[in-house]
Amino acid sequence: MPSPTKDGRPFRIAIVGGGIGGLFCTLAIHHHCSAAGVTTKIDVYEQASQYKEIGAGVGVGINAARLVHKLGIGDKLNAVAGHRTGVWITFRRFDNSEDIVTVPVNDNQTIRQAPCARTDLLDLLRETVEERDAATLHTKKACRNVEDLGDTIRLSFADSTTAEADLVIACDGIHSAVRNQFVVDKPVFSGQIAYRGVIPIASLPNWPFPSYSVAWLAKHRHLLVFPISRNEQLNIVAFVTKAEGEVADVRESWTSICDRKDVEMDFAGFDGPAQDVINSMPEQPSKWKLNDRKPLDRWHYMNGKVILLGDAAHAMLPHLGAGAGQAMEDGWLLGRALSERLSASTNPHFESLESTAHLYQSVRLPRAQKTQATSRAAGNTYEMQSEDMLDKTFEECIPIIAERTRERMKWVWEEDLDAAYEKARDGPEAVSGEIAADGKHSAKSDGTAREQTAVSIEAQ
Ligand SMILES: Cc1cc2nc3c(=O)[nH]c(=O)nc-3n(C[C@H](O)[C@H](O)[C@H](O)COP(=O)(O)OP(=O)(O)OC[C@H]3O[C@@H](n4cnc5c(N)ncnc54)[C@H](O)[C@@H]3O)c2cc1C
Repeated sequence: MPSPTKDGRPFRIAIVGGGIGGLFCTLAIHHHCSAAGVTTKIDVYEQASQYKEIGAGVGVGINAARLVHKLGIGDKLNAVAGHRTGVWITFRRFDNSEDIVTVPVNDNQTIRQAPCARTDLLDLLRETVEERDAATLHTKKACRNVEDLGDTIRLSFADSTTAEADLVIACDGIHSAVRNQFVVDKPVFSGQIAYRGVIPIASLPNWPFPSYSVAWLAKHRHLLVFPISRNEQLNIVAFVTKAEGEVADVRESWTSICDRKDVEMDFAGFDGPAQDVINSMPEQPSKWKLNDRKPLDRWHYMNGKVILLGDAAHAMLPHLGAGAGQAMEDGWLLGRALSERLSASTNPHFESLESTAHLYQSVRLPRAQKTQATSRAAGNTYEMQSEDMLDKTFEECIPIIAERTRERMKWVWEEDLDAAYEKARDGPEAVSGEIAADGKHSAKSDGTAREQTAVSIEAQ
């Protein structure tokens, strides 16, 4: 079996953060490396005391569902997901539920959209890691910082312990401690908060939308619901535009809660079915501050020995329902690239860890940043807050929304990720780590400098 380490031991990978991105990445590395006959030793370090997501829904788009199927656990995903029948989402007027635009989806295939409970998705990933013996899962390991030892990296944890690895993959979310070591920036407030909850669909008498998403839109507010868990539960996300001063006490956390009366007040005037949903929310729903980050033009540091993935690399707003899917795309391609590096491929892209990291970044960064920018733009459209809508009435905004929304998800869902990767891998060499097109950064630097250059990608 090929071994890329000098002393012949397996290559050691430390994954910081055991959320959707971290566990999916673990499985993808294990999958690709096993297929290439490469042995790795993967350790996942999670700060929490258990691998658990909190009770809410997450839409796994077909682009990400495709990858779950490639890992061989697609049937298990379908078994816990909701199942759409012909319609992906319908956008309705807030005041009378009249149709604005309804987006169809072909959901008769085995590989399909998978709106599910976060707990179910994370349990599936964790159980598969355990069944396949893909990694050692650690808990209560909050990574504080990483240190370059030359050939390896030392990780230091809040409990004063340390670990050593050949590669660190930071999957520690929007507040990533690893990212913060290299980049000076802060989460950016979107101007919106979200009330969140999950309720049994059976608790809503005569619910008219049992198998697809519905969004009721008003100026400054929109209510999104979608069925999860075999269409037995309804995931609720109620978005409201707020000034930053009004939400100083609100955090991105399930422990940030409010009184249901706040939701009722914010959604006064919404039509009957929307009111039914709000009245069925828990008495103390969670109240989230929605943040994203500025685009980051560099995802690898310390000569490629530290790599960012998921929200740590590209935290985005939830308006395309695509953040977790983008994290999974990262994991899939990073797994592919690492397996080729570790199996001693002669392709120059795999000459070093740094050039391998750069190949991963060059395929994933433009697409992830387009998703980031488009998520922000979509939120502004749904809340009727985009520049060109600010001075328009609700009635004037409706046709604009219909036009922008109809095809919005097409490029997110239809990308052939493996083909894009192969094209970059087999195309002209860019192995030095330089971003040739704009010359904005050279990964040849030592990666310890705190730097950030915003890459602006036009949102649709
Ligand atoms: C309201 C809302 C709705 C959303 N809906 C969707 C949707 O429908 N579809 C979709 O695709 N995406 C959605 N998203 C986005 C999605 O949740 C994120 O993009 C996704 O969870 C990112 O995964 P991640 O693993 O990168 O980060 P996270 O899910 O944040 O996981 C990070 C993990 O790292 C751990 N961690 C953090 N710091 C450390 C540390 N220092 N050391 C060790 N461990 C650490 C955390 O405990 C956590 O387990 C939504 C987001 C929001 C806010």
